Amino acid sequence: MASVNQFVVPVVDEALILKYDQPGPRYTSYPTAPLFTDRFTAADLWAEIEATNAAPQPPPLSLYFHLPFCESVCFFCGCNVTFTSDRTRPVGYTEILIREMDMIVPRLRPGRPVAQLHWGGGTPTFFSPPQLQALFDAIRSRFAFAEDAEIGIEIDPRETTPEHFDVLARCRFNRLSMGIQDFDPKVQQAVNRIQPEDLTRNTIETARQKGFSSISVDLIYGLPHQSEATFAKTLDAILRLDPDRIALFNFAYLPKQIRHQKAIEATALPSPREKLAILRRAIAEFTRAGYRFIGMDHFAKPDDPMCRAQDNGTLYRNFQGYTTHAGCDLFAFGVSAISSVGRTYGQNDKNSREYAAAIGAGRLAIVRGLRMSDEDILRREVIMRLMCDFALDMPALGARFGIDFPKHFAPCLEALRPLEADGLVRIADGRIEVSPAGRLLIRNICMAFDEHLAKTSAQFSRTV
Ligand code: SF4
Repeated sequence: MASVNQFVVPVVDEALILKYDQPGPRYTSYPTAPLFTDRFTAADLWAEIEATNAAPQPPPLSLYFHLPFCESVCFFCGCNVTFTSDRTRPVGYTEILIREMDMIVPRLRPGRPVAQLHWGGGTPTFFSPPQLQALFDAIRSRFAFAEDAEIGIEIDPRETTPEHFDVLARCRFNRLSMGIQDFDPKVQQAVNRIQPEDLTRNTIETARQKGFSSISVDLIYGLPHQSEATFAKTLDAILRLDPDRIALFNFAYLPKQIRHQKAIEATALPSPREKLAILRRAIAEFTRAGYRFIGMDHFAKPDDPMCRAQDNGTLYRNFQGYTTHAGCDLFAFGVSAISSVGRTYGQNDKNSREYAAAIGAGRLAIVRGLRMSDEDILRREVIMRLMCDFALDMPALGARFGIDFPKHFAPCLEALRPLEADGLVRIADGRIEVSPAGRLLIRNICMAFDEHLAKTSAQFSRTV
């Protein structure tokens, strides 16, 4: 069912955004990852897999493979990365992934189709074309893929050759995403990622010639030396590249938690006002060019599946951000990868040696996670619908979960009153509706429903 708010272009209200700027989760999961504990073990994940197998119709599978290698560090990066120039590393890593799959696959009910496969990193194209082919063959021979499975990979134009595309096309990859961040040379220098516009354009052209129809690019605002004027040139360049989707992320500057971010001078970062000017400009340019604003940080062409998912209320959020594949069990392989199976989250060891040692010893490398309570599942759905639809039908959701929504969430609705008074949200006629001005503050709105927030709030990036 289409929500009333989905076509609304967000309004960048500087005073309100600065007023509500505070640390907050991005809600790629609820409860959020800082709540995972080491009391959750592989045994808990096994138990959940058994329970899912016993369901009348277990959900389809979504597979994620974390391929962590990169040649050099981008100073803004917040991913789990192994920096190396040793091009043989993927061979041993693939063997570990195969062992990990061989522990899990025999325990899954046979025939569960894979609806989605994603390779992220790190830099998946750090793998040579034959190494990628070997990994894909190993996956393909162990899982049954749905005919229309979405098969995606993150590529780095600095590390991608036409031969990579040949392999990806042969393996029927149908979604490519690539980091760009900003084309400005001074910004690229400051973040240690020199990626000329020509190189990126050639990569996209090659991808299209090889038959890839869906290309997504990632940009970041809030990087050192960015300004509205400099970023405007990047926006023009992006529109000339004509990607199908654009993700525009707010730079999460967390130098205390992410060591290599210390290489970024805090004084070189744009002010909050400048960041908002950049954001406002980007929203205006992309929507004027015909892209639709999706969720809190994506843009997509109107015929993109992401727009269709938002139209019919099936847009979903997972650890990779917004996705069109709701209702799958996510099995994640590789160092630091997080699975989401049934009502559990389980994360592999972030340390690559420990991860490899556990798998080598025939154990899953799960070191933390959690099992959701009924209340967590309910609140997850509330937060998910708000993050994806920007509106919520309280009686309908209450009926699904057997609760009186306004009564159950009375303190949360009360907490939203100041935001309602500021025009960010409207609570009336059984609905919660996020206003155009509230759209960019959706994290703040969702925080009202997060009953664990007090335990974790210090660990997040700021909402703006
Ligand atoms: S290439 Fe990607 S994963 Fe590697 S350091 Fe740069 S941003 Fe991080």
